[in-house]
Amino acid sequence: MSLNTLAVSKNTKEYRCRKPQYSPYYQCIEDNYEVFERSYDAKYQEKFGYLRPIVSKVIYQYLDCGILHNGFARVKCNDCKNEYLLAFSCKRRHFCPSCHAKRVAAFGEFACSNVLKNVPHRHFVFSIPKIIRIYFLFDRTLLKELSRIAWEVLSLYYKNAVNKKGTAPAAISSIQTFGDMLGFNPHLHILCADGGFKDNGTFYAAGKDLNAESLEPLFRHKLLSMLVKRGLITERVIELISSWYHSGFNVYCSDRIYPRSAQSMENLARYIIRASFSQERLSYLSESSRVIYKSKDGSDTEDFDSLDFIACLSSHIPNKNEQMVRYLGFYSNVCRGKRKKQGSAESEYVIEDDSYNKGCSKSWARLIKKIYEVDPLVCPKCGGKMRIIALLEDYNIIKKILDWLGIDEFRRDRPPPKRLAVADSFDDYAQNDYVDCNYSDF
Ligand SMILES: [Zn+2]
Ligand SMILES: [Zn+2]
Repeated sequence: MSLNTLAVSKNTKEYRCRKPQYSPYYQCIEDNYEVFERSYDAKYQEKFGYLRPIVSKVIYQYLDCGILHNGFARVKCNDCKNEYLLAFSCKRRHFCPSCHAKRVAAFGEFACSNVLKNVPHRHFVFSIPKIIRIYFLFDRTLLKELSRIAWEVLSLYYKNAVNKKGTAPAAISSIQTFGDMLGFNPHLHILCADGGFKDNGTFYAAGKDLNAESLEPLFRHKLLSMLVKRGLITERVIELISSWYHSGFNVYCSDRIYPRSAQSMENLARYIIRASFSQERLSYLSESSRVIYKSKDGSDTEDFDSLDFIACLSSHIPNKNEQMVRYLGFYSNVCRGKRKKQGSAESEYVIEDDSYNKGCSKSWARLIKKIYEVDPLVCPKCGGKMRIIALLEDYNIIKKILDWLGIDEFRRDRPPPKRLAVADSFDDYAQNDYVDCNYSDF
């Protein structure tokens, strides 16, 4: 190799490193996280519950994500020997904008090419009143109950609407915990086939008229009963909620989405697992330690103290192995597995727009290409194929190489953050960019 080439390639346009440390978001987290952690018990425990260990872990890993000093791969062109460095990434959900974006792209593809059939669908949103949201914040296992109940309501509806023996409904559901201004607002997005499937794959569409309001009373009843059963609320609270003109429970249902609009389905699939916040809507005022966050339509802004902002974001970090996406009914993992084994009926539903089916492997390189519109494994100089020739993890060697190249990644005069110890093992990092996502753990 020649390190000269490396130095030169630093100035070319190819995908190298994202330099996350220069974004206002990163700066806000880096400036404030340690203070946040120290003051958490006194300031936030009462409002948000205890500080879950996963929160610190995810945040420190985010601060390390994409930073060359924490390790990198050397990527080299087979033809012209051009070479560059690629930093490891944290692969975490929600908190890291870059890693979450890769997951969203991977999920959109996976849902369209492997799960959703070429039949009409509808997009449902199930939401709950403010007064009971806090229970879900303090006990995240309730989110699973929320999913279960919404699905019970929908599958019951579709079984009736299709009214054909032996048909099963089908859906992908996704839990979101955030509202527009980052508050804790647990709700469900469900992409549901607008009808039912028989085992052999035949689809029976439901009638076109669907009154989503008719689903709300059953959803409300089941959810409130669950909370009573768990001893969280009393019958008195149910009476109170029932006496309101608007109960705060809501079931939204979109118009029918017709098959063959593959792009809109993929966009919708991406939408249901979107990140809890958008970097584009955020400005950070480091002097006064405040974050200004714009509403989605830009008409409103909220002015957060930086620590309050981090507290809000932290509440949207899922626990380890917490399942946020579920495949249900005919789309469930069990049913899909069975069909794959039998090789049955799948051909009937191959998505006709084959852009998703070409090269179905969800490789990291392809996802980067999809998001950043550059392919990290195509040589920017000669168009040749690049490959990973080494993974560097020894800090002494890393430091030597980066010093030699004159790469100084730190915003201020401080030693590199030695936070790798927070990861389970180095493998957590090293593999991140090179393994496929586990799609069920979104
Ligand atoms: Zn080349
Ligand atoms: Zn990351």
